[in-house]
Amino acid sequence: MMAQYWALKAEAPDCLLFYRMGDFFELFFDDAKAAAATLDIALTSRGEHGGEAVPMCGVPVHAAESYLARLIRAGHRVAIAEQVETPAEAKARGGSKALVARAIVRFVTAGTLTEETLLEGRSANRLAALATIAASGETAIAAADISTGQFEVVRCDAARIEAELARLAPSEILIADGTDAPAAFTERAVTRPASDFASARGEARLKDRFGVATLDGFGDFTRAELAAMGALTAYLDHAARGSRTFLQAPVRIASERVMAIDAATRDSLELTRTMAGARAGSLLAAIDRTVTAGGARQLADDISAPLTDMAAITDRLDLVDWFARDSLLRANIRDALRALPDAARAMGRLVAGRGGPRDLAQLRDALGGARRLREQLGALAERPALLDALLPALDGHGALVDELARALVDSPPLDASQGGYIAEGYDHALDALRLAARDGRQAIAALESDYRARTGIAGLKIRHNGVLGYHVEVSAKAADALMAPTSGFTHRQTLAGVVRFNAPDLHEAALRVTQAGAHALAAEAAHLEALTSLAVARREAIAKSCDALARLDVAAAHADHAMTHGWCRPALTHDADLAVTGGRHPVVEAALAAQGAPFVPNDLSLSESDRLWLVTGPNMGGKSTFLRQNALIIVLAQAGAFVPASQATIGLTDRLFSRVGASDNLARGRSTFMVEMVETAAILAQATPRSFVILDEVGRGTSTYDGLALAWAVVEAVHEVNRCRCLFATHYHELTRLAESLDALSLHHVRAREWQGDLVLLHEVADGPADRSYGLAVARLAGVSPRVVHRAEAVLAKLEAGRAATGGLAAGLDDLPLFAATISEATATKPDTLRDTLANIHPDTLTPREALDLLYQLKALADDA
Ligand code: ADP
Ligand code: MG
Repeated sequence: MMAQYWALKAEAPDCLLFYRMGDFFELFFDDAKAAAATLDIALTSRGEHGGEAVPMCGVPVHAAESYLARLIRAGHRVAIAEQVETPAEAKARGGSKALVARAIVRFVTAGTLTEETLLEGRSANRLAALATIAASGETAIAAADISTGQFEVVRCDAARIEAELARLAPSEILIADGTDAPAAFTERAVTRPASDFASARGEARLKDRFGVATLDGFGDFTRAELAAMGALTAYLDHAARGSRTFLQAPVRIASERVMAIDAATRDSLELTRTMAGARAGSLLAAIDRTVTAGGARQLADDISAPLTDMAAITDRLDLVDWFARDSLLRANIRDALRALPDAARAMGRLVAGRGGPRDLAQLRDALGGARRLREQLGALAERPALLDALLPALDGHGALVDELARALVDSPPLDASQGGYIAEGYDHALDALRLAARDGRQAIAALESDYRARTGIAGLKIRHNGVLGYHVEVSAKAADALMAPTSGFTHRQTLAGVVRFNAPDLHEAALRVTQAGAHALAAEAAHLEALTSLAVARREAIAKSCDALARLDVAAAHADHAMTHGWCRPALTHDADLAVTGGRHPVVEAALAAQGAPFVPNDLSLSESDRLWLVTGPNMGGKSTFLRQNALIIVLAQAGAFVPASQATIGLTDRLFSRVGASDNLARGRSTFMVEMVETAAILAQATPRSFVILDEVGRGTSTYDGLALAWAVVEAVHEVNRCRCLFATHYHELTRLAESLDALSLHHVRAREWQGDLVLLHEVADGPADRSYGLAVARLAGVSPRVVHRAEAVLAKLEAGRAATGGLAAGLDDLPLFAATISEATATKPDTLRDTLANIHPDTLTPREALDLLYQLKALADDA
C-alpha cells in the first residue's frame, strides 16, 4: 500500500494527499501532521516506515467538504486520491490480496473551487496567470472565476501588473518556473512549468477548449495574452484531471479602460476590505444594498475597477438615475431579484460535473424570473440605453426553462442519490415504476396482517434494513412456531430478544419493490444527465443572463442607497476639475450616525490652476477623513454610482493614489518609513495630470528635519512635474510657505477653536493655513494629566522663544532656489569626454597598436573623471 501511496504523492508533491480508504480520506506523514494541526483532529499512527510509526489522521468522506474548506482557507492545496475500482474488481484482477487501484481525481486549490460550501457567495473567486514574453518584455494577466465561468485577459505594461493583480484579487496566481511573483503576491503564487506559458501551445489549448479553428472571433491576442490564457487553462485541466471546468469566451480588457489603483492605495482607501482584511468597515460594505449574490459580486468588481470611459460610466449612471426616479418600480424590481437563486454559480457546478437537481432548479427559477423581468421592463417607456442593451440577455432560454419546469419537482433535494427530484407526469415509464414500487410496498404492508392472522402472533412485524432487506420479525418467545419446518418461514437471524425470518411471498414482493425502485432511480439519473447537458449547452447565454441580472441589481441597489442617504448623481467632464459640494465620507458618516453624531460635510474645488491643496490643522481635526472622502467620491463616480455629496463634478481620473505617512500605519503592523518612501516614489513616477493623489502626513515617519525636507520636495515635485490634482495633509506648518512659490497650490485647514480651555474640533475645512497646531489642546482632550500638559506648556514656551530668535525650523529656506530650477540643473548633461572619445573610434580602421594606445587613453580619461 505504501508503494501506491508514494506513487500518488509523487504526482502531488506540493499538496496534502487525501487517500481514500473505505469511508475515510486518510493522510500520512507530514501531510497528517499539517492537517491535524489545522483541523484540530487527532493524530494517530499506522504501521511503521523506516523503523518509525507512520503519523496518520483521517476525515470521514461524507464530511470531507467542511474539512477541505478549512484546509484551503489555511492556504493548503489538496489532492484527492479515490478508489477507481471496487474491491471485487481488484480481486478479479489480481487475486484476493490485490490492492484496490487508486488515482488522483482532482486537485482542490483555492483558485479552482466550485462547491457552494467552499465559496463565499458574495465575492468572486479568481485564478490568475501572469505571463511575460522574454524577448519583448510584453506582459499579460489572464484571470478566471470558474465558479461562474468569467474569463478575462488584460494586457498591461510591467509597471501596472501589481495594480491589475490588486484589482483582480486572485486566490492563486500562476507564474512560470524561473520567474518571480510581484512581492505582495508571493504567498498566493503557484509555480508552473515554463512550457505551460508557451504562447503557441496556449493558442492551441484555447482553440481546443473552445472548439474553434481560429481565435479571431474572440479578439486579436498578443503573445503574452495567449501565454497567460494558455497557462491558466493548462492549470485548470491539471487540477480537474481532464474533467470539464466552466470558462466563457475570454473578454479582453484594455488596462487603460480601468482606473489604475495600486495595492497600497486599495489598502489605504479600504475599498473592498479594511486594512485588517474584513469586509465590514470597507467602502463596499457601506454601500452594498444588492439583493443577489451575483449583484454583490458585480458590485465588488465595479468598486475594484472604476472606469475611465465617459460613455460607459454615463450608461451606468443613466440606469441608476432611472431607478432613482421611480421608487415603486425600484422596489418591485428589487423584490423580484431578491427571489432569484445564484444561477451563475449553479452553472459552474453543473459544467464541472458537480451539479445536482437543486442546481437545475436554481437555473429554472432564476431564468424564469429573468424572463418575467424582461416582460415587465420591456413594457416600460423611456428606457435608458444600458437597460435596452441588457434586456435581450434576460430572455432566450424559454425552451430550457419550460423543460426544467416540467421535469423537476418544486424543491428538489441537493443530492441525487435518493431520487425523488423528477416530477410526476414528466416520464410515464418512470411514473409506472414508482407506481409498481408503491404497489409493492402496499402488498408488503398487506402481507403483514396476513401473516399475523395466519400465525396468530399479534406482535409480528415486517421490517426493512440494509443487510436483510424486507424480513419478518417476531419476539424470541413467539419464534418457536415459525422455526417449525412447515411454517412457511425460513430463519435468517437471531438477536437478543428478536428473531428474523424470510418468506417466499415476501421475498417476491420485496424483489418487485427493490427492482422497481432501482429502475426508477436509474431513470431519474438519466433524466438528470440529459437535463444537465441541455443546460450546459447553453452555458454562455445563461452566463450573459446572469450578468444582466447582476447589473440590474447593482444599479437598483445604488439608486436605493443614494435615495436613502441623499447622494447625488456626479457630473463627469474631460477637464482636470474636481468640485465637490457637501462631500461626506460614507464609512465615517455611518460610524458616527451609529453613535448619533452628525458628520460635517465639506467642499472641495480643484482645477488646473488650483490643483494642490495643502491641508493643515490639529490632530483629529478631520484631515485624513477629508482626503479619503474625495478619493472615494471619485471611485464611486467612475464605478457608475451616485456619490455622497450634494453636488459633484468629476474630471475623469486615470490613476488614483493614496499614501499615508508611516507612523499612521504603524499601529497596523506595516513597516515604516521605507514603505512610505517606496510608495511615494511610485506616485512621483506614475501620476499624470489626469491623476488624483492624496498624501496624508507623508514624511512623518522620520526625524523632523528629514521629514520636513522630504515633504517639501515631494509637494514641489507633485506640483511641478506630475501636475496632478493632489490633497496633501500635513502637520508641518512650515510647508505653508510653499504657497509663495507654487502658484497652483493653495492653503486650507480644518477648523478648531479653543473654548474655555477646551478644544472644539469643528471638522470643517476652511481657506488659509491653520493658525497653530493645538497639539497640547489635543493632549488635554485625550486625557493627558494636567500636570504633564502644564509642563509641556512651559517647554513649548521655551522652544517658541528659541524659534523666534533663530527664525524657526524653516529659517534656512529663505534663499532656497525654486524647484523648477533644480530640475533642469539635475537633468542638464555634463560634458562627457569619455563618451565623446568612444563615439569617435572607428574600430574597422584601427591597427592593433592604435587600439592598444586608445585603450590606455580611455583608461586615463576614466581615471580623470
Ligand atoms: P486627522 O487626520 O486630522 O487627525 P481624522 O480625519 O482622522 O483627523 O478624523 C478624526 C476623527 O474626527 C474621525 O475619526 C471622525 O470621528 C471625526 N471626523 C472627521 N471628519 C469629520 C467630519 N467631517 N464630521 C464629523 N466628524 C468628523
Ligand atoms: Mg490623519
